[in-house]
Amino acid sequence: MNLKPLPNTKSDSLDIPNGVVRETITHVKHYTDRLFAFRCSRSPALRFRAGEFVMIGLPGGSKPIFRAYSITSPTWDEELEFYSIKVPDGPLTSRLQKIKIGDFIFIRKKAAGTVVLDTLTPAKNLYMLSTGTGIAPFASLIREPETYEKFERVILTHTCRLKSELDYGFDVVNTAHNDPLVGELAKAKLQHIATTTRENSAINGRITTLIESNRLFEELNCPSITPINDRIMVCGSMEFLKDSKILLANLGFDEGSHRKPSSFVVERAFVD
Ligand SMILES: Cc1cc2nc3c(=O)[nH]c(=O)nc-3n(C[C@H](O)[C@H](O)[C@H](O)COP(=O)(O)OP(=O)(O)OC[C@H]3O[C@@H](n4cnc5c(N)ncnc54)[C@H](O)[C@@H]3O)c2cc1C
Repeated sequence: MNLKPLPNTKSDSLDIPNGVVRETITHVKHYTDRLFAFRCSRSPALRFRAGEFVMIGLPGGSKPIFRAYSITSPTWDEELEFYSIKVPDGPLTSRLQKIKIGDFIFIRKKAAGTVVLDTLTPAKNLYMLSTGTGIAPFASLIREPETYEKFERVILTHTCRLKSELDYGFDVVNTAHNDPLVGELAKAKLQHIATTTRENSAINGRITTLIESNRLFEELNCPSITPINDRIMVCGSMEFLKDSKILLANLGFDEGSHRKPSSFVVERAFVD
């Protein structure tokens, strides 16, 4: 006899806000005292394009607080994956950082976002420039076969203050390389550049500085970026987006959108 309560009884579903699905946490991994990743079930109603974000919240309290989160898993994954900051007194993440396997999470069904393949016009190479949790949308895109169909070379850059904050990036690149669906493509086409700004590592410095000094292209053994050959996606802090926009505009790049795809697009990793 099954004595477990049914998960979607009538009274339970009454507590789920409109347009929201309730998913179950299946995996949690803490990377540092500021960063963690988690996976949850995925209801068939939840559809998205690689690079998009959804609003997530936690049950409990009179009105759940929802925050934007990029989905880090690819569109073909049976589950959803997210990568999160832990803000000690953050309205959502002070609680979210304590989630465990079996806990519930709310997800609004509507996904949105600009760092998707459709907002860029065709070219040879795709650069994904990220800082901190801004790597999240790219973790999905590097596991998506369409990314490799559209571009000959895919370069993911991730810049953090400390070396330990780069670990999630190494994990997702490793997962992409060993994936049965995209593994061969990722091994052939994906390059990962990880840099730090406040601790010594293999490559030090902001990516904007490394682009300006040509160091990035020496590392990649390729020519500098041009609007003819390259497309750029940027996701990170407001300051990083501002610096990147100035740099790319000076190099002749033009910002794209859903209405008018072009040579670069940006997404905020958080709001300050
Ligand atoms: C389009 C979009 C996509 C996002 N995707 C992600 C994601 O994939 N993962 C993620 O962790 N966050 C993401 N965020 C930020 C997220 O929505 C929340 O701000 C974050 O979860 C903290 O929520 P909170 O309620 O605890 O604190 P909040 O009140 O939201 O934030 C408090 C303060 O913490 C700082 N902060 C918030 N988020 C971050 C962050 N990610 N990195 C560094 N500092 C931060 C800011 O200074 C902010 O003012 C995204 C935001 C936007 C706009």
